Amino acid sequence: MKIIVNGKEAGTKEKGCALCGATWGDYYEEVDGEKLFFCCDYCALEFVNMINEVKRRTGWSKIDELTINGNYYTGRTCTAKNREKEFKFYVKFNEEAGIETFKEIS
Ligand SMILES: [Zn+2]
Repeated sequence: MKIIVNGKEAGTKEKGCALCGATWGDYYEEVDGEKLFFCCDYCALEFVNMINEVKRRTGWSKIDELTINGNYYTGRTCTAKNREKEFKFYVKFNEEAGIETFKEIS
């Protein structure tokens, strides 16, 4: 999965956390058979919850590309791609890393 966080590629230790782009920390989580880097288990859990929600709503089995813009406080505006299909959404997490708000953007 190609991941762009606030304009920069992310998801590896060198490039930054797959959700927030931070380069500190050391946490890995396997998503769609791929080992992704996260700054902490909290970001990993948020990311997985978000991916699962996208899959549930779209019916996709995997996501090829994900663009994330925003942060924990403002919420995040994202675009997920599966082949030529595109799914735009806004997501905000709660204090338990669960989804507080999830809106599809047309
Ligand atoms: Zn993070």
